[in-house]
Amino acid sequence: MTDGVRAPPALKEKLGKLGLIRIDDFVLHLPLRYEDETRCYQIADAPWGEPVQVEARVLDVAVQYRPRRQLVVRVRDAAVAEEVSGGQELALRFLNFYGSQSKQLETARDNGQLLRLFGEIRQGFFGPEMVHPRYRVVAAETPLPAALTPVYPTSAGVSQTALRKLIAAALAEADLSEIFDDAWRQRLALGRFADAVNYLHAPPPGAPLGALQLRTHPAWRRIKFDEVLAQQLSLRRAFLARRERGAAELKAAGHLAAQLLAGLPFALTAAQHRVVAEIDHDLMQPHPMQRLLQGDVGSGKTIVAALAACRAIEAGWQVAFMAPTEILAEQHYLKLKAWLEPLGVRIAWLSGSLRKAEKKAMQAEAAGGAQLVIGTHALIQETVDFARLGLAIVDEQHRFGVQQRLALRQKGGQVGAGGGVAAIPHQLMMSATPIPRTLAMSYFADLDVSVIDELPPGRTPIRTKLVADARRDEVTARVEAAVAAGRQAYWVCPLIEESEKLQLQTALDTHAALSAELAGLRVGLVHGRMKADEKAATMAAFAAGEIDVLVATTVIEVGVDVPNASLMVIEHAERFGLSQLHQLRGRVGRGVHESVCVLLYAGPLSETARARLKIIYEHTDGFEIARQDLHLRGPGEFIGSRQSGVPLLRYADLEADADLVELAHAEAECLLQEQPSAVARHLVRWLGSREQLLKA
Ligand code: ADP
Ligand code: MG
Repeated sequence: MTDGVRAPPALKEKLGKLGLIRIDDFVLHLPLRYEDETRCYQIADAPWGEPVQVEARVLDVAVQYRPRRQLVVRVRDAAVAEEVSGGQELALRFLNFYGSQSKQLETARDNGQLLRLFGEIRQGFFGPEMVHPRYRVVAAETPLPAALTPVYPTSAGVSQTALRKLIAAALAEADLSEIFDDAWRQRLALGRFADAVNYLHAPPPGAPLGALQLRTHPAWRRIKFDEVLAQQLSLRRAFLARRERGAAELKAAGHLAAQLLAGLPFALTAAQHRVVAEIDHDLMQPHPMQRLLQGDVGSGKTIVAALAACRAIEAGWQVAFMAPTEILAEQHYLKLKAWLEPLGVRIAWLSGSLRKAEKKAMQAEAAGGAQLVIGTHALIQETVDFARLGLAIVDEQHRFGVQQRLALRQKGGQVGAGGGVAAIPHQLMMSATPIPRTLAMSYFADLDVSVIDELPPGRTPIRTKLVADARRDEVTARVEAAVAAGRQAYWVCPLIEESEKLQLQTALDTHAALSAELAGLRVGLVHGRMKADEKAATMAAFAAGEIDVLVATTVIEVGVDVPNASLMVIEHAERFGLSQLHQLRGRVGRGVHESVCVLLYAGPLSETARARLKIIYEHTDGFEIARQDLHLRGPGEFIGSRQSGVPLLRYADLEADADLVELAHAEAECLLQEQPSAVARHLVRWLGSREQLLKA
């Protein structure tokens, strides 16, 4: 049996773009909705304003030119005798039509042929009419279809009729048998897979359209469970496969970490202690840690990462620490250098913008003596070879594409790997994007998760103010007052995502305008097009208090930490996403001074912009903001799933079907252990070739 579907090459290509390649793909291409052609109404009885089917004969066919060229066909109910009048006639109106169409309808009129029409009846100018009905000429007594007509998701060049035929053929040929055993299925109170797909592709007359549309029907439940299960299984399987690969056991007495802690001006919070212990435990295992460290903006993830690095370094291994922007990487470099160099740790800095010779030298460091290498994604370029990479730390991991994360994973050192499988470094991913529980369960099922759920003590909460553009003057006055009180301020330029050039111009304009308005203050500028050393110099000057007001683009969005800055102004706040606003606001409130975040907005606001501003105004807890953001945007966009490499859910909804996610999560581990070959078949059915992505 071939695993493909028979179709001409041009059509095949279009089908491929819809993800329809294998027979199973067609089976799982489920309808968006249905049309009920299982019954015929008499024209006089048919409800108006909803799709109905009627049978009629053509009375006349005319091309009219007013108000514009159109084909108008008068028809009369086929089942009603000629002498009965009133409400039995209908006008069909076609604004786009072919000559062949009017010919065909004229022939139907001349021969008294039957038309089966499908469309919505509504009040026209001269009585009831259907605009652009679907119709076909049928012989008398042609039986009605035995099932509702499915309407599938499709794209240009693939007609519903073609899809219906291909899917019906696929259903006849496919193996729809149960993959897991029946007792298991019954315990979970799920119907049969074959019954579910057959039902959904062709529901019987009278099927509950509401439950089908809302996907609450038991047949949908089975499909959605299978889909979520496939996601869980593939992620867990990838997790277990990586575990198999072995890693160095980072055994260290903890002297280096203790020294670092002793030199800090603060004590760890209980939450930081807990996650440090979780990480330490993982690092001593002979298989790679795959841990996501979550903690809200400002919760203190950097010191946790530094403590993990200490353990690896003390155990004689190298650590790579990767950050998504130059500014953040540089800041980490400076901070970790201050913490660790006095303890004798050798640190190297590698960024994309280093000059060739410097880069060469740094690459040599990575290959040789450096114990900690900090940098941007330059770290994962092919040319960097670590001698003994034991731990890879990725800050703000959601900013990296899946390929970049995978690449760092491949940079393992020569660990004495058992069984001939190449070892990989331990991995610590960090993220300040708090993920609601079901989303985490769904998208991070291939990671262990640690959460810092507590902010360091002594922080004064940030006050957020919404201010209309017209009152900009009050805001500049506020900046002056803050500086007079010895504080510093950020001023974030309007976001222009469509054009980098315009973004740059806006930054320059904002800087010029503020320099004029705030004469006497030291106004600095940092933006994405500056050279790395210029950026670094500006950030250093701001950190040292030599700049009062830092005009910035979103380059300062993540990680930047200047505790004396207590005022954040965001211009055109309505253009920013929720997590961006939360991150930006998190740049202040880092010291002992009361901090304020001013969101300047320009009306009129769209409904979602209004909703976003309301959420950011009312909440400071990142988890709550994330939950609401998820609600506003849906999981795909929220998580950036195009990048995540995680199979998207097409049918299940993480919020509405949270119970299925929990159920599948609970079942997955057990199935992987007890029925591995069935698991493999389930994954082939659901993911086919897409599963390759996760194997790396
Ligand atoms: P994030 O989790 O956003 O990366 P950082 O690691 O940048 O947060 O920490 C934010 C600030 O809080 C830094 O100035 C850091 O030194 C400080 N900090 C971290 N942990 C503590 C703590 N336990 N007590 C006081 N300050 C802390
Ligand atoms: Mg950080």
